[in-house]
Amino acid sequence: MAASMPAKERSGAILTVDLDAVRANYRLLRDKAHPAACSAVVKSDAYGLGAAQVGAALYEEGCRHFFVAHLEEGISLRPHVAPDAAIFVLHGPPVDTEGEFTAHGLTPVLNSEPQVAGWRAHAKALGKTLDAIVQVDTGMSRMGLSPQEIDAWLQDAHFLDGIKVRYIMSHLACADERSNPMNGEQLARFIAIRARLPQYRASLANSSGIFLSPDYHFDLVRPGAALYGIAPQGGEPNPLRSVVRLQGKVMQTRTIAAGDHVGYSRRYTASEPRQVATISVGYADGWLRSMSNQGLAIVDGVKVPQIGAISMDSITLDVSAIAQERVVPGSLVDLICAEHPVDAVAAMANTIGYEVLTNLGGRYYREYQGLAQSAR
Ligand SMILES: *Cc1c(COP(=O)(O)O)cnc(C)c1O
Repeated sequence: MAASMPAKERSGAILTVDLDAVRANYRLLRDKAHPAACSAVVKSDAYGLGAAQVGAALYEEGCRHFFVAHLEEGISLRPHVAPDAAIFVLHGPPVDTEGEFTAHGLTPVLNSEPQVAGWRAHAKALGKTLDAIVQVDTGMSRMGLSPQEIDAWLQDAHFLDGIKVRYIMSHLACADERSNPMNGEQLARFIAIRARLPQYRASLANSSGIFLSPDYHFDLVRPGAALYGIAPQGGEPNPLRSVVRLQGKVMQTRTIAAGDHVGYSRRYTASEPRQVATISVGYADGWLRSMSNQGLAIVDGVKVPQIGAISMDSITLDVSAIAQERVVPGSLVDLICAEHPVDAVAAMANTIGYEVLTNLGGRYYREYQGLAQSAR
């Protein structure tokens, strides 16, 4: 991304990532989860914000447990956090990649019997004991050992030969809904599994799980979204700081008359004369097309509606409420900011903040506030 990143003046939009806010969010989550340890989930390039930058900043804040999804993400992150930080790879080793894990100092999450067997064989071949997390399924039916596989594990004294279990972990399916009965069901299943494997430390909570209750914290919590400012509980005040500011550039403006149409499929028709500004951000930049005729931008604190369909490379705003000299080619308008945060954008796109962040485009000029010493 960095190599092809456009210069600020030439770019169509500016993405500012406030790492001081990420740091503050980390400290809030860490304090809330105490005495459990607090990791940082930086998969998918830290939800689109830059795993290298986020990883280095949170290492500086004292974080020593990082999670990525893919082996390749772990290899990329390794140079940005010192060797005393563990990097856990959620997907575990793809077939025959165990050697890559030990070569790069990565710790797998083992999600299935074949992954356990592969890691056991690798430990044996090296004549070493190797760290791992073992994931157990408590109802999401996605990754982790099934109840039957756990039974088999308990009957096989050699199941984990050569493997040192750092944590057993599971993942919550509905933690963002405080009153969903699934939360209590998964917690009860996890406690029952732990009762059979009492020697191991444990990890269950994602961001939202941290806010359910301390019962969900165990020994290690795994927030991702909350670090990046996404609200952990729908319908409740968001205690986290906003991290992202996206400013789109005005390309041109025009006055349209009553009856004029705007954009593809003429999805907007003016009922009276309007002032229109065209902005250099589109669905190819992750400005989701489902926001056609829905989204908004903020200019000097005033919300201006997005009109018409979202194009690949541009959107159109009704800026009739704004003084014309404030909206000229090169002017910046806020598409994401503290007053219009990621969750509000997501609601307009009929999706979740996670999807808005992970779609943030590669054509933005990116600016970081609060970079780690090592990254300056
Ligand atoms: C993505 C993920 C997390 C982080 O979830 P958030 O909701 O972003 O906090 C934690 N654990 C696992 C297994 C994950 O896949």
